[in-house]
Amino acid sequence: SSEVDERLLAGLNPQQREAVLYRGRALLIVAGAGSGKTSVLTRRIAGLLDTREAWPSQILAITFTNKAAAEMRERIHGLVGDAAQGMWISTFHSACVRILRRQAEAFGLSPSFTIYDSADSRALIKRILKELEADTLGLTVSSVAGRISKLKNELTDAESFARGANVDDPKESAFLEVFRRYSEGLARAKAFDFDDLIAQTVYLFRAFPEVAALYQRRFRYVLVDEYQDTNHAQYALIRELVRAVKPQNVPADTRTRLEADGSIAPASLTVVGDSDQSIYAFRGADIRNIVEFERDFPEAKTILLEQNYRSTQNILDAANAVIGNNFDRTAKNLFTTIGAGDKITGYTGYSAHDEAQFVADEIDKLRTAGTSLNDMAVFVRTNSQTRPLEEIFIRSALPYRIPGGTKFFERAEIKDAMAYLIQVVNPADDLALRRVLNVPRRGIGPATEATLQAHADREGMPLRDALRDVEQLGLGPKVTGAIRTLVDLLDEASGQALTAAPADIFALLMERTGYVTGLRATRDAQDEARAENLEELLAQTKEFRKQNPEGTLIEFLTNVALLAAADEIDDTDGSVSIMTLHTAKGLEYDTVFLTGIEEGLLPHQMSAGEPGGVQEERRLFYVGVTRAKRRLFFSLAMQRSQFGDTTVALPSRYLQEVPAELIEWRQSPGFANSRGGSQPRALNARRDSGDRFSYGTSLPPAPNREKREWANAVTAKVRDNGDLTLATGDRIRHADFGEGRVTGVTGQGPKSIAEVLFDTAGRKKLLIKIAPIEKL
Ligand code: ATP
Ligand code: MG
Repeated sequence: SSEVDERLLAGLNPQQREAVLYRGRALLIVAGAGSGKTSVLTRRIAGLLDTREAWPSQILAITFTNKAAAEMRERIHGLVGDAAQGMWISTFHSACVRILRRQAEAFGLSPSFTIYDSADSRALIKRILKELEADTLGLTVSSVAGRISKLKNELTDAESFARGANVDDPKESAFLEVFRRYSEGLARAKAFDFDDLIAQTVYLFRAFPEVAALYQRRFRYVLVDEYQDTNHAQYALIRELVRAVKPQNVPADTRTRLEADGSIAPASLTVVGDSDQSIYAFRGADIRNIVEFERDFPEAKTILLEQNYRSTQNILDAANAVIGNNFDRTAKNLFTTIGAGDKITGYTGYSAHDEAQFVADEIDKLRTAGTSLNDMAVFVRTNSQTRPLEEIFIRSALPYRIPGGTKFFERAEIKDAMAYLIQVVNPADDLALRRVLNVPRRGIGPATEATLQAHADREGMPLRDALRDVEQLGLGPKVTGAIRTLVDLLDEASGQALTAAPADIFALLMERTGYVTGLRATRDAQDEARAENLEELLAQTKEFRKQNPEGTLIEFLTNVALLAAADEIDDTDGSVSIMTLHTAKGLEYDTVFLTGIEEGLLPHQMSAGEPGGVQEERRLFYVGVTRAKRRLFFSLAMQRSQFGDTTVALPSRYLQEVPAELIEWRQSPGFANSRGGSQPRALNARRDSGDRFSYGTSLPPAPNREKREWANAVTAKVRDNGDLTLATGDRIRHADFGEGRVTGVTGQGPKSIAEVLFDTAGRKKLLIKIAPIEKL
């Protein structure tokens, strides 16, 4: 290992250096945010290549997004040049698609399978629920989709679920039936959903050891970034890959050579992660994976990195203080040599618009002072928060971008065009064909569709085949002709699917269906926009071929299917990114605005009621804070409208976990003048003038008139009672009021309120979530 060129080790601290040079079988790097985990992984790969310990083809590196993969590839290229070509650096999903497409035929699957995104999955589930009238049992599309996804991430398929299901429970047996039909529906359509991509690869490896052996032999070095967010299926996949290659699975002629090489031993595995940044539990990510790793690889070396190279000490102190409130974690303390830096700027707006205006003003000031818009980012907890920000940014002429929010591929006309392309590649995909059967209109109404579907069901064939039989179905001559034209076109396009450029196939379809020209002909401005979007898609297919000269239509569709929000971030386009905290993971910005730091948003009310939810949300907060290099802004609004309701917002409990001296609350002149008065003058001014309001204290105190809850949240020592549930009759102890008995509970989730008759303090209403109480 001493052969690794000093050039590749330049600037690394001793622990990082050790992590780059370690050559045992298993290495676990657990470290806080910004401590160089991703950098170390990158250098480690560069070192392996530079010393010729590994061929590029022997490396499999897993990143969390395609963009992160591209960056890592570029960095490695920068370090070792062309030696880096041919590595697999990709997300779990992309790697699995590659494996599945390559191996599909060997075990009787179609290599041109479709990848269902969550909208497609939901459409299928919706259809099944309707068929079964299962909604009467309270099964909803979301609940079923979520549950199936969780099960698949646990590697539980419909059949193994059936073995343990309680079929006497009608709801349970209905769910089982939906799960079964869903799996059959996917199989019939030759489609995999996202979760299948991983699970099916694991099943493939387990069922076909000789296929597993191919990859076990090939990938001698497996490296996984953001390991804390792997789920069980992904962990199982890693385990399969780094098993010792069983000689009986290797063809005899290569066996002896392999044994002589010693390369039949298990591959080397490196995982890097930070359990404090595990934020995908809802997708099945499991912190236990770190524990399991240590159990499964007892000889593993663990390296801790504690120096943070990203942020100032003030930012780190805030992050450390907040995350320190999570129990059940290994304490680690990040430090930096960058210096204290600026304080965090806090701001409380009257409304979400006011908050957005503050953000826009600050961004504008920083831009004028020379910070590029690309170096600033605005984080939100949920997509609904972006609207006021967008409105103000547009008004302020601030260029912005919402990665994952433009939803280009979710637009109806784009989905239509994609459905054509999918149907061309995968004629078994009925969902795609149904979508475009009558797009553009060609006289195929619901009755005709039903006739076609009935024929398909009777014959047990895909809808596409039923179309080919159209002349036998006794439909009118006009509609028969239209269907014949459509199916002939699709067949012609399918004939070219494996060879022609994606753009040519797309152009053929659009031209012959007249979709684009039809839109243009309406002279409707919206249709015009739709036509432009289709042109944009055509441009994208061309661009794809430029990037991938041999790229087929299947590959293009795969790329689109696996596109993630973070992949849309362009670091050079001169715009501010507004993104969710989930998308922000792994990224860093000079200046970060963390917005909407309110109870109900962060922690989000949906999570706050879940077991462990408050802790997971705290990690999300921690992820947000640790993205900032130099400047950090915290903002919130006193009231926020959601779903048409305007509600009073409470400052987030996490805000109160940040040491007061780290935040400087911004004060507006209007408020400064009125200080000391009982009623801040600015309160009256706000409706008409848009004047702003903020606080000079460490915590944003509430205006007097605001609800009691607000005052409680600010003045009481805010606690996180997590999942505490109270019932009438329970005895509790309150920090100020002493002991008492619960006489009633109203409201739900984070808004549950207990009415308590205290032994000495009388009757009080308490917000259970945050009241300083304990159950006796
Ligand atoms: P996260 O937990 O957010 O994923 P990370 O641990 O992966 O963070 P990196 O992104 O690798 O951290 O590094 C954070 C920043 O620190 C990057 O800008 C990186 O270039 C820089 N950095 C890492 N190590 C060093 C070092 N030894 N000297 C100087 N800068 C470093
Ligand atoms: Mg990282």
